[in-house]
Amino acid sequence: MSFEIRKIGVVGAGQMGCGIAQVSASAGFEVLLNDISPERIEAGIARIGANLGRAVERGGMTVAEKDAALALIKPAADFAALGDADLVMEAASENEEVKRAVFTNLRGHLKPEAVVATNTSSISITRLAASTDRPGRFIGIHFMNPVPRMQLVELIRGIATDDETFAAAKVFIEKLHKTVTVSEDFPAFIVNRILLPMINEAIYTLYEGVGSVDAIDTAMRLGANHPMGPLQLADFIGLDTCLSIMQVLHEGLADSKYRPCPLLVKYVEAGWLGRKTQRGFYDYRSGAPIPTR
Ligand code: NAD
Repeated sequence: MSFEIRKIGVVGAGQMGCGIAQVSASAGFEVLLNDISPERIEAGIARIGANLGRAVERGGMTVAEKDAALALIKPAADFAALGDADLVMEAASENEEVKRAVFTNLRGHLKPEAVVATNTSSISITRLAASTDRPGRFIGIHFMNPVPRMQLVELIRGIATDDETFAAAKVFIEKLHKTVTVSEDFPAFIVNRILLPMINEAIYTLYEGVGSVDAIDTAMRLGANHPMGPLQLADFIGLDTCLSIMQVLHEGLADSKYRPCPLLVKYVEAGWLGRKTQRGFYDYRSGAPIPTR
């Protein structure tokens, strides 16, 4: 019998970890949610509850389905609590040191057959696998943001990923009713290899004064039929995450065309990280987004 994923541990209860926990629980998987403090875990569970509440309001699920999904999500205060997970999804911050520390600290806590996956947007799966105790059972499962709404999941094998791990990950994603696309393990994979240079170019367009925030986003929404402008999208992704991905592309492919825009660096240094900090290319503090340039 092939290996079947039933119980999932999620490390990192930020926007992605919560989304992954939400869709997994909605599909009937048991979920253990971990972050660096009990407060963050509780905030994550509250956020999932609010998201599911909105799904009920929109008619996407019943109150009973929402309650059943929430009941499947339990806090996991430490990695020892992930001991009976079949899959541990790492969705901590996009920082290689942070992720390596997570994989090193997971050693010794998991079942031998458990699959460990990363939701990294850009970092080498093979390199991250080397910091785990199970490169064969390690894989990139890259969900898109917002997880409940986005149809695609990229699957990325590291050099050592075995076929059983790939197959189990694929079945897991299909049970979430999402579509798999397979990417080779190169910096930023497929979606972000194409998307982030476009966003970075939009920031250069702003930096060089070609257009205002509003002009650039309107141009791309109405001129290229994108559902969101690139700067609005950057705020949505998180400007720290955007910068990390550009740095990985720049370092990994050693091509100056991936140079992160200095204005992106400046916003991140200011702590203006987009929606998650209420301010980025737009200011969200008074409700309706107001362009900051
Ligand atoms: P986020 O900043 O919203 O959340 C990250 C969470 O990780 C925080 O709650 C933080 O406390 C937690 N964390 C940090 N160190 C930890 C540790 N040692 N142990 C446990 N938890 C820890 O970030 P996010 O947007 O949810 O991104 C998470 C991952 O998903 C990143 O790798 C990112 O590249 C990837 N991703 C993001 C997007 C996006 O659009 N934001 C899309 C796809 C993939």
